[in-house]
Amino acid sequence: MNRLEQKIISDGIVREGNVLKVDSFLNHQIDIDMLNWIGEEFKRRFSDVKVDKILTIEASGIALASVAALHFNVPVLFAKKTQSVNVDGEKFCSQVASFTHKCINNVFVSKNYLKAGEKVLIIDDFLAMGSALEGLTDLVRQAGAEVAGIGIAIEKGFQEGGRKIREKGYRLESLAIIDEMDGTTGTIKFRQ
Ligand code: 5GP
Repeated sequence: MNRLEQKIISDGIVREGNVLKVDSFLNHQIDIDMLNWIGEEFKRRFSDVKVDKILTIEASGIALASVAALHFNVPVLFAKKTQSVNVDGEKFCSQVASFTHKCINNVFVSKNYLKAGEKVLIIDDFLAMGSALEGLTDLVRQAGAEVAGIGIAIEKGFQEGGRKIREKGYRLESLAIIDEMDGTTGTIKFRQ
């Protein structure tokens, strides 16, 4: 088991409805040493890939993507969910169904920060049904930029997102892939 898998076993909580709670180290309180390991691991796995920018989605992807960006030495851009007077000018917009909040979010990035030809590494904390990644890859497509790869901390392999994303031909690296988890016993099985 790698460090993230060990942490999930020791500190993760399996909830009803196929939800894994990791808010003691990833989604609420943040274990920065764990995040640093995740950032290093993404850098190691994507060491052969040219990356100009990291793209994630607010809110829980931001910390992870920021620490990873230190290892790649590139800027982080996060797709916003709420309109703000701080974002001027034209935007690329897409829609994302939220697995945890059970709603549809309009997400956007300013056209100032995503440009044609840029090589973009997409990073997020979880992959479940793949809706967040569909929205993010759509933003990259609209900009005429290129998805250099996709790095996910925790993929729930028993949900369909990973299969859909791999079938589209994206290079997807998930640091922990859960093949089974049981809300009643709390057991978690990782893909070897
Ligand atoms: P998807 O769009 O792939 O269905 O879900 C990915 C998004 O939903 C992630 O950005 C993550 O924030 C959230 N998410 C999905 N499943 C889980 C889960 O089991 N636990 C937590 N904490 N977040 C999840």
